[in-house]
Amino acid sequence: MTEKDIPGVPARVLRYCYCLSRVCRDSRLCGVQDRGWSMKSTSIDPQPVAEVEERVTAILPQMIELRHDLHRHPELALQEIRTSAHLRTLLSTTPITLWPPLLGTDVIGELPGASPSVLCLRADIDAIAGEEQSGVPYASQHAGLMHACGHDGHTAMLAGAALVLSDMQTYLPMTVRFIFQPGEEMRCAGRELVARGACRDADAAFALHGWPGLPVGTISSRAGTLLAAGIEFRITFHGVGCHGAMPERGHNPIPPAAAMVSWIERLYQQVRSNDGVISACTLHAGTQANIIPDTAQIEGTMRYLDADLGESMVSELTDAAHAIAREYQVDVNVHLDRSYDLPTRNTPLGYGHLRHVVDAYMPDAVWQDAARPSLVMEDFAFYLVEREGAMAGLGLGEGAAPLHSPAFDFPDVALPIGIRLFCLTALAATP
Ligand SMILES: [Zn+2]
Ligand SMILES: [Zn+2]
Repeated sequence: MTEKDIPGVPARVLRYCYCLSRVCRDSRLCGVQDRGWSMKSTSIDPQPVAEVEERVTAILPQMIELRHDLHRHPELALQEIRTSAHLRTLLSTTPITLWPPLLGTDVIGELPGASPSVLCLRADIDAIAGEEQSGVPYASQHAGLMHACGHDGHTAMLAGAALVLSDMQTYLPMTVRFIFQPGEEMRCAGRELVARGACRDADAAFALHGWPGLPVGTISSRAGTLLAAGIEFRITFHGVGCHGAMPERGHNPIPPAAAMVSWIERLYQQVRSNDGVISACTLHAGTQANIIPDTAQIEGTMRYLDADLGESMVSELTDAAHAIAREYQVDVNVHLDRSYDLPTRNTPLGYGHLRHVVDAYMPDAVWQDAARPSLVMEDFAFYLVEREGAMAGLGLGEGAAPLHSPAFDFPDVALPIGIRLFCLTALAATP
């Protein structure tokens, strides 16, 4: 089935397929939403709210220790073998039923509540490439790897919530599914995990991401689109290498690559006012000062909130690459990675639920509506296509180092806030 085969369905809907299939690209046709959603916010008695606080305080030293241990031993996307083994050991002491892995290093477990309706809580567990310069005593012991996106903190918060809720099972209105997801960074493994059934029969999904710049105790999100969709690109100009003193004998791929980089900057100036961004992030060519190389390669990323803008950026980029290649008499290959081509969109009910929990049960926390979406991207987007749910930013401090910087470290002081938010999110949800 193609777009032309579905009369009356706007192209924008088609691009945001709810069944994640590129064949049947409309939720109203593929039927994945037939069963409907059933989650709403409810009030919680003071007793379980107080109990959450006490239990979080009791397990906090263990969760700080867990985070420091994960921080010392970062593992790249889909290689989280030690991390996932650690989590399986920890959760095997609880009444949580662990699933066999769907992707290898994922850890998914279920804690039955009063209703079989399922609410998912998700944390990502992978680290990234980078040399840590945080100076903390539990810094990475693995050269070139570090937890620079705070996923050690996310993992410890969800593990903490799993321990706390395991002792409060009688209060749970819905079954809680804890999803420790591998490969969020660069691999978009959340998309594959969801496609393999991580969220099957689930009514709602929630996740947190640590957010430097927000004060600790602030939780921030917004109704609707929160984070961008993105497409990564790699443009390779294929020339003919030769001696640097005899350029007429070859076709130098470096000038067209340089022209392409300048063109990308011009496109960025055009799209930035429409909540779009395009950046050239790597540029590689050549080996020696007197050799004209065969190839020159540019890698980069484009981000957008509106699918039409994304598609127009792709076609402009591709057209420009071919026009520049023709002008310089070289060949060009444009490779696009569309894995993250879905914005993270909070459902109104999911957003309202998180806000309700913070406003009603976390007097020491402050809810802040994010004025605008951020142009970072997240594979949690794929958890929200069939169900209610939302993602929120968890304040890590105004002076905290930025995500992905060598100095970054998830502050332990933010852990109890995230653990409580996860627990209360589950306790305040009914089918
Ligand atoms: Zn990241
Ligand atoms: Zn992250």
